[in-house]
Amino acid sequence: MPRKVLIVDDDAATRILLDGLLAHAGYEVFTAANGKEAVRILNDIGPQIVIADWEMPVMDGLQLCREIRHSQTVGFVYAIILTSHTDRVVEAFDAGADDFLTKPPRRAELLARLKAAARIIDLEAHLARQNREIHEVNAELTLLNLRLKDMAITDELTGLGNRRVMMERLKNCWEAAVRSNRSLSCLVMDVDHFKQFNDNYGHDVGDVVLKALASTLAENARSSEPVFRCGGEEFVLLCPDTGVDQAVILADRLRQAVEQQEISHHGLLLKATISIGVSQRDPSFRCADDLLRRADAALYIAKASGRNCVRLVGPGCVDRTVCAVAPGDATAQKPASVPAQ
Ligand code: GH3
Ligand code: MG
Ligand code: MG
Ligand code: MG
Repeated sequence: MPRKVLIVDDDAATRILLDGLLAHAGYEVFTAANGKEAVRILNDIGPQIVIADWEMPVMDGLQLCREIRHSQTVGFVYAIILTSHTDRVVEAFDAGADDFLTKPPRRAELLARLKAAARIIDLEAHLARQNREIHEVNAELTLLNLRLKDMAITDELTGLGNRRVMMERLKNCWEAAVRSNRSLSCLVMDVDHFKQFNDNYGHDVGDVVLKALASTLAENARSSEPVFRCGGEEFVLLCPDTGVDQAVILADRLRQAVEQQEISHHGLLLKATISIGVSQRDPSFRCADDLLRRADAALYIAKASGRNCVRLVGPGCVDRTVCAVAPGDATAQKPASVPAQ
């Protein structure tokens, strides 16, 4: 594609002369009689080389250079000033000119200077392209980084926060609770006889059950605190500013929600139960892990008590039994499934 050159001169004879000369040299030439017209052509057609007379009515060559340099709409333009004022060329460069030619321009010099202009324009285009590519790669990396950060804290199967993010949250909750001596409770929940879902129906069905239970727990927990999936079929809920009595009520609400849930999948109607261990921060705890350990101990007792129940191990008491269903309850012993209607 021929390069576009804009000739700006109030003198028609100069315009015609340069037009013929440059067209013959293979350029696509546009002409304007003053700076104002030139700006319009620069915006509409976008030539990248301008040869402008210095002295013109309406808008002279130097004003045109300034306009080009300050314009938000005109792209990169290589500006050559035509002048007989060779003693004042510094003014032209100050105004934003890239080069100058003395009047009347000699053909060979004009074409040589246009070749130099082409080199600068190509270099600029190359840099602009590289810049764009760097920006694109940067944007992509930022996005990937966000996705990676998200993946690092999200459990892929259920979309819940994973153990890592739960431990961070636990540390923060613990520090806040210690600082202002406020309550902090913790629920550790484990699906009862979950292995049987895998054994009876396959791992994929086990995954479906886990996803469904995760949704139920998340929906029934308080909106202010997320449920985390911390291992295979184990979930954790942290309850800042919550005493143990409230935590147990919440735990039993979650237990009942799971107990009542029917998971239908490809003609199967599946039901599951969970056991929950509850703990509350007390003065004997040295660190946040103690809160988890205590809830784990309570969970162990809940399992031993027949499952599908909530247990609490409080300070000074080994097994404070709460909200238990009768041991031996059939739904608590193994996952039940009935055919879908
Ligand atoms: P309990 O009532 O004592 O907790 O018995 P359980 O069968 O639930 O516990 P157990 O620890 O024996 O089995 C847990 C099973 O969970 C074993 C493991 O293969 C399965 N599991 C762990 N992660 C996943 C998972 O992401 N998907 C599926 N489908 N199964 C999983
Ligand atoms: Mg003039
Ligand atoms: Mg289990
Ligand atoms: Mg388990």
